[in-house]
This record gives sequence, C-alpha cells and structure tokens, in this order.
Amino acid sequence: MDYEDKRLKLAERLKEELNLSDRVYNAIKKVPRHLFVPERYRSEAYVDTPLPIGYGQTISAPHMVAIMCELLDLKEGEKVLEIGTGCGYHAAVTAEIVGKNGLVVSIERIPELAEMAKQNLSALGYDNVHVIVGDGSLGYAEKAPYDKIYVTASAPDVPKPLIEQLRTGGKMVIPLGESYQTLYIVEKEDGIIRKSWGAVRFVLLYGKHGFRNPEE
Ligand code: SAM
Repeated sequence: MDYEDKRLKLAERLKEELNLSDRVYNAIKKVPRHLFVPERYRSEAYVDTPLPIGYGQTISAPHMVAIMCELLDLKEGEKVLEIGTGCGYHAAVTAEIVGKNGLVVSIERIPELAEMAKQNLSALGYDNVHVIVGDGSLGYAEKAPYDKIYVTASAPDVPKPLIEQLRTGGKMVIPLGESYQTLYIVEKEDGIIRKSWGAVRFVLLYGKHGFRNPEE
C-alpha cells in the first residue's frame, strides 16, 4: 500500500471515530505526514501514534492533531499561533484549514527543529506558516491578537502572555500538568473560561512561563 492509500485509510478511520468535520478530515487526508518524520520512521507515518523527530521531541499522533483542530473550531482566514512547531506537521494541517487568507505563526525553542520545519513546510508550499525560533511561553506579540492559539507541549499553567495575545472571543487549547496532564480549552470573553477536555500525554513546555529545563 502506498503512502496516499495509507493516509486516506487513516483519515477515514479518524473521521468515523472522532466524528471529524469535513475541513479537519480534508486537511488530515491532504498533508503528507511521512514527509515530516525522519526517514527511518516513514513506514509508520500513518500509524496513529507519536513518533520521534530528534532532540528528545515527537511529532504528535494524528488523532491528537485532529482533536485539537476540532476543539479550536478553526475557520478559513483565521490567524493562529502555535507554540511548539516540532517538525511542522500540525502547523501544516492548521494551514490547510485556515487557507491562503489565514496565517499560522509557529514558535519552536530548538533551532534545529525550527529549521527542519521551515524546510518541510516550504518544500510543500505552505507560505502561510511563519516559523520563529524562541520561547513560545512568551507568545509572539508582534502579530497579536490571534483568533486561536494552541500549545503542543504541556505547561504548568496557562501562560499569561498567551491570554493577553488571544483576541476577545478567541479560543486556546493547551495541555497542563507534568506527570499527569489534562487538555484544556480556554475561551476569552469578558473573563477567561477554562474547560477540561481529558487526559493527554505531551512533552513538556520549557521557558519563562513553562517548566524549568533541567539541562539549562
Ligand atoms: N507541533 C508538533 C507536530 O507537528 O507534531 C509537535 C511538537 S512536540 C509534541 C512539542 C514541541 O514543543 C517540541 O518540538 C519542543 O521543542 C517544543 N517546545 C517546548 N517548549 C517550548 C517553548 N517554550 N517554546 C517553543 N517550543 C517549545
């Protein structure tokens, strides 16, 4: 079976199991995940599991990417901030949904991964994704406010700069916790409404509003 067949099967399974909207289903069906993973993992690219991408980090499992896109209720033309670019796969799925009139700003703290993501994304023509090297727990004020924000690494609490950079009426999805993690949906109206979605497993968010990196 070639990559396209495997990807279609995975997208169909996720659509059925998670009751995916057409826009998330179409994005998962379109983005070639095998081109975002190291060559030795390509044969596993359409298994619904996280995979190593180097530097102790992972590409998220397709179901988690799909669930986060659904929870954010992403729409065409939106401006989205991603914290934790990794290899760029989730950013590509988001970019498919927001389209050419939308924008994805994505921050990665490991320069080598940011470079890998930039190459992956530009090879596939995703010029509506801007990858920035830095501490994503500070957000990226230059392009704020954002319609939607999502964090792909688990934080001790919702970083204050991310709340500030979310537009009123906007939504954020973020995992919180260290050994036991919960995915939260944060909505900004007059105040902040926080709802838990369920247990998840992510790598940790390091940085000023993240956990302390034991290697630094
Ligand atoms: N979004 C990725 C994908 O497409 O599958 C998954 C990324 S991985 C689960 C989480 C990423 O968050 C790692 O690449 C890690 O280096 C990054 N990260 C951790 N703390 C960060 C921070 N403070 N700022 C930016 N990136 C951070």
